[in-house]
Amino acid sequence: MAKIQVKTPIVELDGDEMTRIIWAMIKAKLIRPYLDVDLKYFDLGVQTRDETDDTITTEAGQAIKQYGVGVKCATITPDAERVSEYHLKKEWPSPNGQIRSILDGTVFRKPIIVRNITPAVRSWKKPIIIGRHAYGDIYRGVEMKVDRPGKVELVYTPADGPESRVLVHEFKGPGVVMGIHNLEKSIRSFARSCINYALSERIDLWFSMKDTISKKYHAFFKTVFAEEAAVAQADFNQAGIRYRYMLIDDAAAQMMKSEGNMLWAVSNYDGDVFSDVVASGFGSLGMMTSVLVSPDGKFEFEAAHGTVRRHYYEHLKGHPTSTNSVASIFAWTGGIKKRGEMDGTPAVAAFAEKVEQAVIGCIEAGIVTKDLVPLMDPKPAGYQSTEGFIDAVAERLEVS
Ligand code: NAP
Ligand code: MG
Repeated sequence: MAKIQVKTPIVELDGDEMTRIIWAMIKAKLIRPYLDVDLKYFDLGVQTRDETDDTITTEAGQAIKQYGVGVKCATITPDAERVSEYHLKKEWPSPNGQIRSILDGTVFRKPIIVRNITPAVRSWKKPIIIGRHAYGDIYRGVEMKVDRPGKVELVYTPADGPESRVLVHEFKGPGVVMGIHNLEKSIRSFARSCINYALSERIDLWFSMKDTISKKYHAFFKTVFAEEAAVAQADFNQAGIRYRYMLIDDAAAQMMKSEGNMLWAVSNYDGDVFSDVVASGFGSLGMMTSVLVSPDGKFEFEAAHGTVRRHYYEHLKGHPTSTNSVASIFAWTGGIKKRGEMDGTPAVAAFAEKVEQAVIGCIEAGIVTKDLVPLMDPKPAGYQSTEGFIDAVAERLEVS
């Protein structure tokens, strides 16, 4: 069979440990035999980052900016232990954090749904995607302990004008106080990334804050979001989707009763909490994908999990492993599908869809890795090795 031509390059970011092994298998068995694609390859494996003094990470981020679509393997964010394990020059910063700031992007996590894994919440039938604002609030807060009576104020000294003050609290005894901030530019970029992603997936966009209580801070987020949504109203209409603002508690309650199929955009802290609530409600880390979307519509796809270190050490000892490759496969297919959409080449997008159907077909036929066994109903008879699962997907793809 002739290979399908991909018009524009895809940026490929390689990674570390068990996911690096899976990544190579996916490329060799599921992608290369079918697609003629120019992959702009960047090795973000921790040793190469170290050798290049991490310039490779910046180059990879710039390449995604240039070509518009990237696919990324999980990478090690080194701590002191990793520095000695891999003999690194230093604790290089997180590649994901760096690429996120190059693209000024927002991360969305999306679960992969199959018939024979029931989410913890019975009403959930389709993905619930959380968009977490990743700048400011308590994550950039400053704090003070107050240990005796006294007055705490917020003081704003404009560069060119008189200062203004508000009383935080007149303390009669000990207590605590915190100052937090956010930036219009960051909130606006966040809103645009969320709008891009909702349009790209054709799903409703929810946004929630607590503006009934916080009439300036939270209300400002609400206003900025509403302005950006208004700009995109024609696109929303065309996509047949809706923008809804709800109070955070109302949205949380609605989310628990809903079928899913929406993007729920939330503030930094709410996203911290609810992304873990939703992820564990849907089941396994091996089935959770992650997409970084920039305000100007660049996309980077990856698995939400890490490098699966424990499995890698087993693999190095020559022991068999059963690591779930589904989220890594969907990182590839997500990127290929997006490439096809952007290039206007439906055959490319259709191929990605076919790979995803082969994966889901395997799982629904009970062909799975070990991590999924306890979540399944009915229980499968056994489980596949890491490579065995990818081979089963390749077989299904071959006959589809
Ligand atoms: P991890 O890779 O997320 O894995 C933690 C545990 O979750 C695994 O030991 C395994 O449990 C289970 N698991 C995760 N993914 C799985 C999969 N695909 N198939 C089967 N089981 C899976 O976290 P980690 O091993 O603690 O972290 C390793 C490295 O990943 C760290 O250096 C960290 O910096 C990095 N990291 C990278 C990213 C990224 O690049 N996006 C994200 C997070 C972490 P069992 O051991 O019980 O089987
Ligand atoms: Mg968290």
